[in-house]
Amino acid sequence: MVADLILARGRIRTLGRTGLSPLSHLAIAGGKVVACGGREVMRLRGPRTRVVDLEGSAVLPGFNDAHAHVVYYGLTRFAADLSGVRGIDEILDRLKEHARTLKPGDWEHGMGYRTDELTERRQPHRTELDRVTGERPAFIDERGGHARVANSAALAAAGITTETPNPKGGRIGRDLNRSANGLLLESAMRLVADVQPLPGLERRVEGVLKAQELLVSRGITSVGAAVNRGFADDLRAYETLAYDGRLRMRVNEFLSWELLEAASGLGVRTGFGGSMVRAGPIKVFVDGGAERVAVRSGGGVWRTTREELRHLVARATAAGLQVAAHAIGDAAIEAMCDAVEAAGGRHLRHRVEHCTICPPDLQARLAQLGMVAVMQPVAARFGRVASTIFFPVRDRTHLAPHRGLMRAGVPVAFSSDLPVLLDPNPWPGIRVAVDDQVNGISLLGALRAYTSAGAYATFEEDVKGTLEPGMLADLQVYRGDPLGEDPNVNWEELRPRAVLLGGARVSGSL
Ligand SMILES: [Zn+2]
Repeated sequence: MVADLILARGRIRTLGRTGLSPLSHLAIAGGKVVACGGREVMRLRGPRTRVVDLEGSAVLPGFNDAHAHVVYYGLTRFAADLSGVRGIDEILDRLKEHARTLKPGDWEHGMGYRTDELTERRQPHRTELDRVTGERPAFIDERGGHARVANSAALAAAGITTETPNPKGGRIGRDLNRSANGLLLESAMRLVADVQPLPGLERRVEGVLKAQELLVSRGITSVGAAVNRGFADDLRAYETLAYDGRLRMRVNEFLSWELLEAASGLGVRTGFGGSMVRAGPIKVFVDGGAERVAVRSGGGVWRTTREELRHLVARATAAGLQVAAHAIGDAAIEAMCDAVEAAGGRHLRHRVEHCTICPPDLQARLAQLGMVAVMQPVAARFGRVASTIFFPVRDRTHLAPHRGLMRAGVPVAFSSDLPVLLDPNPWPGIRVAVDDQVNGISLLGALRAYTSAGAYATFEEDVKGTLEPGMLADLQVYRGDPLGEDPNVNWEELRPRAVLLGGARVSGSL
């Protein structure tokens, strides 16, 4: 056998059997790793083999961000960017500025603020938005994706009046006189989204390209493309890019629960597709976000009732479709366990997304039911700091219990939940997971959560996630060795200098 490319004299960590011990040479042929070891790998050099001298640079498998809202993030790039705003005035200024880019008839959309970062510590009122948006329908989304504020024109377009009841799994914010104040929580967000003109396929394609640029630059070669709603144009956007050869990352596309019947009617099973775009899990929301998570002590919002969830998981399991259930509180996680147990869905590796409040009895059940926890390590830090506000649990060791879950035998896959996290760079999360005083895990464990565990979650652990021979040559090359002796690495700023997908360069230079 002759290699197409040999990476020589590096510090190559396969994260497979050899774990973190660096090997010096890696050979690639036909898009796959064909050898990894020492100097003997040079025997695969032929007359056309390109040899790159790494001069001690580190190489890792490409990251797998198991849950990132690719299209949604991309679309927000065309909206008013509200990230980092410190007050309602600033939100209004940015909306005003952004409105200059809009045509008559366009809706205005802003996104990325957080109420707890505003000096007012409250959501804006619709009349405040009206001051700058006028007659144009407009709404703004909080960064967590679970709260929205609409202006008066958007509420009117949606037909929301004093009499409109709260939708199931959602809430309409109201003034003392019962008139809607603009705030829409959880499923109530749909009331305005459903009447807004939808972005078309072309916009979605542009959005994916913007998200891809960001993800690939962070060393992410595989992404679980999370969705909140079902749009056929999302899948079409990835397919279009893959067909044109413009897709530079592997996409596992979630299918909204609304598409369950359509997918099973077509015979689409989880994993359908190729190595670039494949049909992923059916996404369903069990509880809400922030203070609306469903905990055993009561309260929270149930976006899907226990009964509905049991039905949905049974239908999906029968159709060969994995389910990815958004469940943050222990009551929601328990409901998902009950549903998987009733469905006999062990073989489908059903997933719990977030899995934030997860005490030991549920950790054991997840393991027993063959389920996967898809978590956001940076959110864990936030969750623990904010736990007194958001999470009414006494024992903080049960918050984001990476260590407990892993010890119980639950595969834990890490993710950014982009744009909840505005930068999908995995390194700060890896550091947080390792340095965590309560639930800290090993560096190797954290790196595997961002690589092979994501591959396991999509049934691709034999295909990618490590740099062992036979695996896809999806990898990232660094400048120097960030995992070496230097204790002063700036993890927030750390970027690979080159990223390869199937042995071909998709970012940076070698
Ligand atoms: Zn999400």
